[in-house]
Amino acid sequence: MKIAIAGTGYVGLVTGVVLAHLGHEIICMDIDADKIEKLKKGICPIFEPGLPELMAENASRLTFTTDYSAAYSDADAIFIAVGTPEKMDGSANLSYVFAVAGQIAESAKRDCIVVVKSTVPIGTNDKVEQYIKKHLKHDVNIEVVSNPEFLSQGTAVRDMLHGSRIVVGAESEEARKAMAEIYKGMNQPIVFTNRRSAEMIKYASNDFLALKISFINEIANLCEVLGADVEDVARGMGMDPRIGDKFLKAGIGYGGSCFPKDTKALHWLGNYHDHELKTIKAAIEVNENQKLRLIKKARKYYDTFEGLAIAVLGLTFKPGTDDLREAPSLTIVPILLDDGAIVKAYDPCGMERFKQKVNGSIMYCGTPEEALKDADICFILTEWPQITSLKPEVFLSMKRPIILDGRNCYKLEDMEGHDLVYESIGRRVIQ
Ligand code: NAD
Repeated sequence: MKIAIAGTGYVGLVTGVVLAHLGHEIICMDIDADKIEKLKKGICPIFEPGLPELMAENASRLTFTTDYSAAYSDADAIFIAVGTPEKMDGSANLSYVFAVAGQIAESAKRDCIVVVKSTVPIGTNDKVEQYIKKHLKHDVNIEVVSNPEFLSQGTAVRDMLHGSRIVVGAESEEARKAMAEIYKGMNQPIVFTNRRSAEMIKYASNDFLALKISFINEIANLCEVLGADVEDVARGMGMDPRIGDKFLKAGIGYGGSCFPKDTKALHWLGNYHDHELKTIKAAIEVNENQKLRLIKKARKYYDTFEGLAIAVLGLTFKPGTDDLREAPSLTIVPILLDDGAIVKAYDPCGMERFKQKVNGSIMYCGTPEEALKDADICFILTEWPQITSLKPEVFLSMKRPIILDGRNCYKLEDMEGHDLVYESIGRRVIQ
């Protein structure tokens, strides 16, 4: 099939490449001319394991353009995969989605389905369909289908190729058939629902995972007070198949482009309909506080951070991605800098983007060892393998080896017996 994709971000580009891999003719459209230039040269503009290789393998079925009318005029299906960021009030900003809808209405010259992959509030697909139909320039039939995406950054290619399910919210048999044709060759079951249920599946799934993380983080905080070990608690809980062992890792909270905004957007939507979602509200509040956990721990050792050299290991919101959106580092590092600290930062992938976002006394280091040398305290914010593989002795090059680990990277036994202080989340302090 001929498929156009609007947006070549983490979701759009991976979708385009995977659909090309399934044998479809793909045209990817983005308003970001720099991205499209890179893509035309075969350069992958985002860090996503396996993506450059799959892109190169399927190059003959992939084209890239900034010309929306060329992309949308002659497609069997047009996927919308543009951002839906958070507005000031917590609701989802749908302006990018509706901008694409307008461009489709202007350009489509044949019958097609419009597939909304972006995460959008319940009822949006209906509105997008009404909007396109109202503004169509040519006499064509279009139908909007909801097809939310569940990939995780860092494992996006694998997730899309081997995900647990494909969710399709469609209102007609023809649209369901077209979607089945698009995904022919995938081994995952397709869950067919109506459009509103598909939209809700996406929010409910993300918000449930966010809630699970906030839940274990609250338990972790209480473990610290009561002398229990959250890693053991999570292990014991996770063996119960009704609970499951995923997303029970205590830490300094979730970040990224999805959980923070999707919790806030559903909470906003609930309130808008006079139906407050109390569990989601709690997940949001717990997460906001959790980001400050290491700062509170650090205050036990230093009243002020002024003049201190602080090693910060890990900046991205999780390992395996160069994405910094809503990363705890963006909350923590500015607090340290405001207090007068000199930050020595290390991240294998995120330093370039961090430079563009945060100003101040930051020394960017090529290795964790360089960041740790002579530091007064160390904050660990992302569990990159380059960080989790560090031996305890490495921390002894610090002026004062106080390690505050927000991701529980090391076994307590391994940190014992060295001349250091090691505090993590939900576990006893080693000193
Ligand atoms: P992104 O910011 O990485 O990419 C969005 C892209 O859309 C950008 O390249 C931007 O230039 C482009 N764009 C904006 N307006 C455009 C237009 N009119 N025409 C064409 N391109 C345009 O976003 P993302 O992380 O890929 O997320 C996209 C959507 O998918 C969001 O709704 C998000 O919630 C959802 N989602 C994201 C993930 C994830 O892990 N990133 C996972 C599942 C779902």
